[in-house]
Amino acid sequence: MPAMNAPATNAAPRPYPSSWYAASARLLPPFAPLQGEIQTDVCVIGGGYTGLSAALHLRKKGYDVVVLEAERIGWGASGRNGGHVGTGQRADQASIEKWVGMEAAQGLWQLGLDAVQRVCDLIDEHHIDCELGTGNLHLAAKRSHAIELQEELEHLETTYGYKQLSYIASDDLGDLTSARGFHGALLDNGCRHLHPLKYALGLARAAHEAGVKIFEGTHGRPAADGSKGDVVTPHGQVNARHVVLACNAYLGKLVPRLAGNIMPINNFVVATEPLPSRLLPRINRDNLSMSDTLFVINYWKLSEDGRLIFGGGENYSSRFPRDIPAFVRPHMLKIYPELEETAIEFGWGGAVGITLNRMPDFGRVGDHIWYAQGFSGHGVPTATMAGHLLAEAIDGDSTGFDLMASVPTHRFPGGTLLRWPGLVAGMLFYSLRDKLGK
Ligand SMILES: Cc1cc2nc3c(=O)[nH]c(=O)nc-3n(C[C@H](O)[C@H](O)[C@H](O)COP(=O)(O)OP(=O)(O)OC[C@H]3O[C@@H](n4cnc5c(N)ncnc54)[C@H](O)[C@@H]3O)c2cc1C
Repeated sequence: MPAMNAPATNAAPRPYPSSWYAASARLLPPFAPLQGEIQTDVCVIGGGYTGLSAALHLRKKGYDVVVLEAERIGWGASGRNGGHVGTGQRADQASIEKWVGMEAAQGLWQLGLDAVQRVCDLIDEHHIDCELGTGNLHLAAKRSHAIELQEELEHLETTYGYKQLSYIASDDLGDLTSARGFHGALLDNGCRHLHPLKYALGLARAAHEAGVKIFEGTHGRPAADGSKGDVVTPHGQVNARHVVLACNAYLGKLVPRLAGNIMPINNFVVATEPLPSRLLPRINRDNLSMSDTLFVINYWKLSEDGRLIFGGGENYSSRFPRDIPAFVRPHMLKIYPELEETAIEFGWGGAVGITLNRMPDFGRVGDHIWYAQGFSGHGVPTATMAGHLLAEAIDGDSTGFDLMASVPTHRFPGGTLLRWPGLVAGMLFYSLRDKLGK
């Protein structure tokens, strides 16, 4: 691979969080921060899946592209997530049909399938070694959820012709996993799972090799009204025709009119020590990703070296809990009590950008800014797909971008100022509901 931009000098991007991902990935040498003024066709702000995928796809179409990342590549959610690559959209198809009608819903379903395929194709084309696995088990945490899962299977088979699903009755679950407390599950063989940071770094390497200029430790500030393509950085400026805003939950107040469309929520993950090999087939016989149907979702998978990577619990404050392993552990032990004596070696958190209806927010600001955000915990495939659709739209074919943008999204009540108290109350209500009833 060609030499990285000159080594970092006077900027100090924050290091990766102490996650199992950062400990197990081969990190890229740092990209230097931007110094001085530079011209380009497209300036991408944010070096996660959205920004990297947009950059790579634009470069393949012949555009000059600059990526500005305030910290390190994949430092945000793209380097911290559960690594589940789910099919379809984050919202269920029945709701989507009500919002946009059957024809658009069919198109959105197909885009969701294409997104998973695109992740696989990029991994294949660029030889990204990121532990790609197959299949997700979605476990019903309540009896009523088991019925809903069966209805979903029926709907996806008959309306969308999707044949990758099978329903596993509660009596048969024990063959696949010792996970406790579930009433049945939907097995989706179209889902994939991966090591998220290795995937992000692989996209960055591919973009860099293709000629994208990447600058880390470089905070970019665009004209908030999108009236021009200039992006100001601490030690320089990018003069671009187009700006792609790819900051998602880390957007802050950069473009205030977009901030109220999403809400950043902190979500937490732990990695255990490698499990004894006798336990692995009991915990997860077929190396699937697994998740439950609760509002505050638990999700887990095994790492290549046999650790349980378990995500569970979230908070709505500006701070992470002081002891993340202690925060997540009860969720894990409820499902796998046999791990009582198992040490947790890593615990980390990240910000998930959610929207009110859990569908991503695509759009434009002024003549120069394009954006996609609010992947609501489904961003491994959807942010990758967003990058592709952003590239197509900038290149003149906005069919897919417009379809995504056609789903009505709503600002959180109170916009940027008042969204917290109301939303936190709502979140707490639903997480309480998780603990109650059948
Ligand atoms: C704990 C956790 C678990 C998750 N699990 C899953 C999962 O299993 N499956 C799934 O599909 N999705 C999951 N998600 C969601 C998924 O990770 C995200 O949707 C996806 O990574 C979003 O990618 P992105 O590129 O849009 O944003 P990010 O990866 O967050 O990247 C945004 C980047 O922008 C940078 N930035 C911000 N402001 C500026 C600026 N002004 N200038 C320069 N750079 C800036 C940030 O430093 C950051 O690196 C999870 C998220 C979290 C936090």
